[in-house]
Amino acid sequence: PGTLYVVATPIGNLGDMTQRAIDVLGQVDLIACEDTRHTQKLLTAFSVKAKTFSLHDHNERQRQEQIANWLEEGKSIALVSDAGTPLISDPGFHIVRGLKQQSLPVVPVPGACAAITALSVAGLPTDRFAFEGFLPSKSGARQKVLGELKNETRTMIFYDAPRRALDTLQDIVEVMGAERQVVIARELTKTFETIKADSAGNFVDWLSQDPNQLKGEMVLMIEGYQPEPDSISPEVEKTLKLLIKELP
Ligand code: SAM
Repeated sequence: PGTLYVVATPIGNLGDMTQRAIDVLGQVDLIACEDTRHTQKLLTAFSVKAKTFSLHDHNERQRQEQIANWLEEGKSIALVSDAGTPLISDPGFHIVRGLKQQSLPVVPVPGACAAITALSVAGLPTDRFAFEGFLPSKSGARQKVLGELKNETRTMIFYDAPRRALDTLQDIVEVMGAERQVVIARELTKTFETIKADSAGNFVDWLSQDPNQLKGEMVLMIEGYQPEPDSISPEVEKTLKLLIKELP
């Protein structure tokens, strides 16, 4: 059978396109894209001629069958998204899972990913981290998710729409406290790349005063919960309180 190549593309700076990505996109029979016009621009920039077809959340399951058939016929296919690594908050998961279940070949062609790029310069612990994708757009649901992550000790990485960032920061202050350290990586690899670390409280003030900082694309990272060295964890405290109640 043919192979499905999962190909990462730049997250802003075309210089981050890899040689292998160019080679693979030039060799495959078909390219599955999120937005064919968007990908066409990328292909033109690298003088790659290829047939493209669209793939999005709504048609991914149907496409899975079609792609499996093409691979069975010996065609090779590349999967790309608008930016970065496919499947990472982008379409492709159902396709890759379906093909793996059918034991069809899937090969990664690695490259840029906004989450990892942001983490690599955040100055937050990188030994363990949790990628949380997009937070819910409604404040109630967002606060609930943040509440569940309040005692998470790993660095947390989120994708966020800049127009929501101020609301998100306000929710972080409310749920995790104004002192919690946050890093915002905006417009990575582009002209207005900005990486800033501060407390959640200071971010709220800063973003309210400078709406320019709410433009473009951003990755938001929250430092993990740091228990006081001698303190007991909230869970243990809860258990102890219950036990005290039960004591005669
Ligand atoms: N698959 C992509 C990847 O590997 O990074 C992510 C796709 S997701 C739909 C788009 C989100 O990624 C944006 O809302 C933003 O949070 C983040 N992002 C993408 N490009 C970025 C950039 N150049 N700078 C900062 N964040 C970026």
